[in-house]
Amino acid sequence: MPPSRVLISLLICLRACFAAAQYDIAPIFQPAPRPAPTSLRLASDLRLETHFAPLTPGGVGLLRLSGGGIERARADFHGAVFSFFPADDGAYYALIAVDMNTHPRAYPLIVTAERASGDVVFEVPLRIESGAFITQNLVLPGNRVYLTDPAIEYDELARLSALTALVSPAPLWDASGFELPHDSALTTPFGDFRTLNEGRESRHTGWDQNLPTGSPVRAMASGEARFAGMLDIRGNYALIDHGLGIYSGYAHLSELHVEAGQRVEAGQIIGLSGNTGRSSAPHLHWEIAIRGKWVDGSAFLELWLPAPGGASGDANRRQ
Ligand SMILES: [Zn+2]
Repeated sequence: MPPSRVLISLLICLRACFAAAQYDIAPIFQPAPRPAPTSLRLASDLRLETHFAPLTPGGVGLLRLSGGGIERARADFHGAVFSFFPADDGAYYALIAVDMNTHPRAYPLIVTAERASGDVVFEVPLRIESGAFITQNLVLPGNRVYLTDPAIEYDELARLSALTALVSPAPLWDASGFELPHDSALTTPFGDFRTLNEGRESRHTGWDQNLPTGSPVRAMASGEARFAGMLDIRGNYALIDHGLGIYSGYAHLSELHVEAGQRVEAGQIIGLSGNTGRSSAPHLHWEIAIRGKWVDGSAFLELWLPAPGGASGDANRRQ
């Protein structure tokens, strides 16, 4: 092969490798053992573990509480309450979600375990680090420019916040855990600041995957559809409740294959990708909300999760 062809091949390979590695999610294959905690506190025979790296705005972390006699437990963080749930390893777990607009600094995380003999309280200082969010300009075609109206976005987010703040008391996901809704590469990341046609600024509540219209979109985990219909910005949209305040949303679909109230299995095709709503090209936008807060879905997928109580085995991410 002539040297120039070798050089071109090398450049193409490097470019492909760089593009593929840009937003890869590290796969965690089942069965995965529970990882070592990132911190550990002991009090009155109870053990509190944290399972997260430093959190950034939009981050999500896991708490594990174990010991005898726990009747209920809660975590209070930055004005929100996150309830613990029992898992089949006998411990209690809670997911904490950091609002994407949180100012970086230290905040107290208060964990209260209720026992017949009295409450046990842990106070954990939690530092929220700055996030590395990018800025992009989104160019909308003329017939969709009206969707840059802040009132339209405000109303839609208020509607979704009300839906995702509802907490189904038991986990609805199963031992297969959560996975990406499509195997293609992730493109536009969570949390980026967007100017719309060089004007008003908006935040990206999820991740994008570039897909031709008509690509099958999978439910990220089992649950129940809470919304399936048309929204102004998200276009054809499906919202699935996975229990305990965890929701996944799928936007800009060309077709919906699910109805509100329907039970959905992990991996079930819930619609086809498209270009409906405030979208400039065919793609899938997916997003994760925990108790009404949008969180970084890729961070959520990388998080180890226990199997819900009553299930057998650990529910870990397949990817
Ligand atoms: Zn998007």
